[in-house]
Amino acid sequence: MHDLSLARGTLDRAGLRRRDPDLVPLLLKDPLTRILELVEGRAQVIESERDCALRLRAPEEQDAFRLAVFLGQDSQGTSYLGVVGGAPDPDGTTVWRTLREVGALLSDRDAGLFATMQGLANWHAAHTYCPVCGATTEPDQAGWIRRCTQDGTEHYPRTDPAVIMAVTDTADRLLLARNPHWPEGRLSVLAGFVEPGESLEAAVAREVFEEVGLVVEQVGYLGNQPWPFPSSLMVGFTARTVDPTLHLDHQEIVEAVWVSREDLREMVLAGSFGISPTVSIARRMIEHWYGGPIDQKVEPTTPNR
Ligand SMILES: [Zn+2]
Repeated sequence: MHDLSLARGTLDRAGLRRRDPDLVPLLLKDPLTRILELVEGRAQVIESERDCALRLRAPEEQDAFRLAVFLGQDSQGTSYLGVVGGAPDPDGTTVWRTLREVGALLSDRDAGLFATMQGLANWHAAHTYCPVCGATTEPDQAGWIRRCTQDGTEHYPRTDPAVIMAVTDTADRLLLARNPHWPEGRLSVLAGFVEPGESLEAAVAREVFEEVGLVVEQVGYLGNQPWPFPSSLMVGFTARTVDPTLHLDHQEIVEAVWVSREDLREMVLAGSFGISPTVSIARRMIEHWYGGPIDQKVEPTTPNR
C-alpha cells in the first residue's frame, strides 16, 4: 500500500545541518527561506476547487522570538522552517486548516512539511520539563532536540508506534468496529498502541484478541504513515481468523460487525455507515480490501486515525 496521505514528504531533512548553532538565526535573516507557520494546529492554505496548497511565507521579525525548527531543504536548495505562531489570524481574511482537514489534498511536499511540523510542535509543547530532574528544557539543534537547562541531558522527539489491522475471516469479510467515543454508524478497523517489549505482529494479535476475542494468524504488513495527533506512527497490517465468533470488550468496542463488499456498498449507499476520512490509513486499508475507492459524499468531521 503506497501513496498514503501523510507519508509523501519530499524534502531532504538535511539532518547534519541541524548541528550548526547559527542555522536557524541565519535562515530567519534570509528572505528566500520559506516559513510554515503553525497556529493552534492550523496552517494557512490556499484552497481551490480541486486541491489545496500551504501558503508559505518569508521570515518575519517576530519569528526570532518564536519556536522555530528546521524542516529541511528541497532540490533547488530552498530551506524550510516551521514556526509556532502565537495568536490566530487577527483579521480572519485568510484560510487556516488542520492537517486532518487538508492532509489528503496537499501536494507531496506540503503534506510532508505539515505532518513533520505538526509532530514536532506537539512534542515541543509537551516536553518543556526534563524527565530526569524536572527543570525546564529548551530547544537545540534547530528544534530537533530539547536540552535540560540544569543537567544538560538531551531529549529527542518521540514517535509512538501503533498498529492498525484489517481483520478478515475465511469468507474474506472485513471486521469493522466502533469505539465508545465515536458516533453511531461510525465504524473502522481495529487499532492499538504497541507495548514495551512487543513486536508489531504480536501487538496486532494481542489487540485483536483483547478487543474482540478473535485469534488471528497470517499477520501481514500493508504500509505505514505518521499520524501526529499527537505523536503516532500508524503501521497497517492484514490479519486473518479462522473462527469469526466475536467476544467484545465493551470498554473498548461497543459494536463490531463482519461485512462483505456487498454489505459495505449497501451501507455506504444507505448512508448508514460513517467511514474514516481519506487522510487516514484506516480509510486506505478499507479501500484496499474493498478493491477501490469508496465514494462518500460527506467526509466525517471527527476522523480517528
Ligand atoms: Zn534535567
